[in-house]
Amino acid sequence: MNELLQTPIEFLKGVGPQRAQLLRAELGISTFTDLLYHFPFRYVDRSSYQLIKDVHLTDGFMQLKGTIISVQETGTGRNKRLTARFQDESGIIELMWFQGFKWILPSLKPGVLLQVFGKPKQYGKGWNIPHPEITEWSKVDHSSGWQPVYSSTEKLTSGGLHSRGIHKLINALLQQLGGHSLPDAIPAGLREELRLPSFERAIVSIHNPNDIPLAQLARTRFKLEELLHLQIELLLRKTITMQRTPGNVLTEVGEAFHSFYENHMPFPLTNAQKRVLKEIRKDMGSGIQMNRLLQGDVGSGKTVVALLTMLMGIGNGFQGAIMAPTEILANQHFIGIQELLEKTNVKVALLTGSTKKAARRILHEELLNGEINILVGTHALLEDIVQFKNLGIVVIDEQHRFGVAQRARMWKKNTVPPHVLIMTATPIPRTLAMTFYGDLDVSVIDELPPGRKPITTQHKSDKDRLVVFGFIRNEIAKGRQIYIVYPLIQESEKLDYANLMDGYESITRAFPLPEYKVSIVHGQMKPENKDYEMRQFVEGKTQIMVATTVIEVGVNVPNASVMIIESSERFGLSQLHQLRGRVGRGAEQSFCILMSGDKLSRDSKKRISTMVRTNDGFEISEVDLELRGPGDLMGTQQSGDLDLRIADLAKDGPLVALARDKAREILQLDSRLERSEHYLLKKEALRRLKDKPNWAEIS
Ligand code: ADP
Ligand code: MG
Repeated sequence: MNELLQTPIEFLKGVGPQRAQLLRAELGISTFTDLLYHFPFRYVDRSSYQLIKDVHLTDGFMQLKGTIISVQETGTGRNKRLTARFQDESGIIELMWFQGFKWILPSLKPGVLLQVFGKPKQYGKGWNIPHPEITEWSKVDHSSGWQPVYSSTEKLTSGGLHSRGIHKLINALLQQLGGHSLPDAIPAGLREELRLPSFERAIVSIHNPNDIPLAQLARTRFKLEELLHLQIELLLRKTITMQRTPGNVLTEVGEAFHSFYENHMPFPLTNAQKRVLKEIRKDMGSGIQMNRLLQGDVGSGKTVVALLTMLMGIGNGFQGAIMAPTEILANQHFIGIQELLEKTNVKVALLTGSTKKAARRILHEELLNGEINILVGTHALLEDIVQFKNLGIVVIDEQHRFGVAQRARMWKKNTVPPHVLIMTATPIPRTLAMTFYGDLDVSVIDELPPGRKPITTQHKSDKDRLVVFGFIRNEIAKGRQIYIVYPLIQESEKLDYANLMDGYESITRAFPLPEYKVSIVHGQMKPENKDYEMRQFVEGKTQIMVATTVIEVGVNVPNASVMIIESSERFGLSQLHQLRGRVGRGAEQSFCILMSGDKLSRDSKKRISTMVRTNDGFEISEVDLELRGPGDLMGTQQSGDLDLRIADLAKDGPLVALARDKAREILQLDSRLERSEHYLLKKEALRRLKDKPNWAEIS
């Protein structure tokens, strides 16, 4: 039966080679199945009629009842057109046809009552309806309430395949399939449990709905089917990867961990930190390589978890590496980790782009002979010349900026690939995490260290600048430090740079020496100058740090309690959240002030009001997903890979989670999808896994 659905589309009555070619090129439809899965994007109510005078109120299609008063042909050749003046009780509108309208002429009988259906277009001051459907009133099928609307293209339309033409083809196909029983990818038991219609019923109600709720239920069914395929694919991929990749077994927690934990921990771990460490410990003892994503809001204390993870490795005779996306952040990790390990004999080293040649040579040697226990650094770690004696654990901080390929390069630094812990402070909505990181295990630190006061966030207009300056002065008088951040976005780099410098000047004027000292950091500075300025601020020698988003990631100055973001309307939500996370790290009440102009787009308003309303990174990420869609959030390329035609990760979160659960249940029962009711799931999984077809590895 399945074969029937795979029939090439040209064998459908009414299609033929030419139309088949068009359908393939324009809509990617090449088989019966493809056509069935070309769903309408909306339905119009064919049981109600509108009035011509309300044409400007229409949201797309209009259905009218009236008569033609005159018909006129104009133009020659390519400019030929046919115009009919159509009248109802409220007014007159023109119906238009361009080229190839001979077949329509006979149905345009003046004085005969007609039903007209089409999409009005504004044309100068007036309106017309191009290529409407015309039906004599006496022949109207008043039983068909909802009519599906299909996406089509210009080329298809001129080939006779406008929305209604496509619907006709689909109905011809449904007719041809009628009587055959069609297989269903969703196992019957699951369908019943979720009260979803069968494939057969759903395909009919999505293309010819009797009522809208049924059509919606049918759509839900197809979304679930699609997501089920995706989640099964992801779970199988994970199983295959895990079985292919043995990991170093950490037999014990080890001395390095214990002695640090008992003697040098500056604070007790939060429960969330403890839970995550247990998850990591379990992974690393399992004999399979760990690939774990650690999500935790800014300030939730991921660094110490990373350190304790590396200490476990060291206690078992391995080395650890931690990689950060910027030099500033790598430096900071290095300083922080060194401080924590001060009274231990664990040796830490730093490797970045600015590490001098001579120092590098020594470093390479000490990595190879195992003298260095922990290497902190930037992308420089990836270079092939950087080799370890026995690298057991790699921590990647802020992984958004590292690609999968880079992850793979770290794997290769040891014969048995090191365990990998990826940390991100950009919370990803759960549904995205389980989809995009389907091959990773996910841990979440969902608790902030005790004593943090929620940051107060306010939105201020550029006109309020003096008030804001007054506020800054007060905070500085209390001994606090201030960040002022300017946007620096590639497209208008020069202009942004000018704004930054202007801003810096006006700040130094408003906060003059010797009472006030202002630091500045931006991407065009030499690394050593950047470091110097940064250090001045970290050490409290300057009170104000004017910067671009280079400080976005990870910088930790607990005494800084005010974050002012200039032109905040130009920042994305996750960036704003990251920036705000730079404050609120000490015991004092912290503030975030979002400056903006008065004219704001709807999206900017929503971003700013979300920031003012909540500090919860996961909530913010949900809004971000809603505003930007998964493509922008995760990178279009990654989203494109998912190839979702029906489901929408941004809107169908609960369905994604449901599909994940059900996929897991199915594979738990039948890990190789051998049962007959899983036949179609298996077939689709094999298609999706064709680059990894080795079923023998799935046990
Ligand atoms: P992030 O998750 O953003 O990387 P950090 O690791 O930089 O957060 O931690 C933020 C701050 O919280 C640091 O100053 C760190 O020392 C502190 N910290 C982390 N864990 C705890 C804890 N359990 N109790 C108190 N302070 C903690
Ligand atoms: Mg961090």
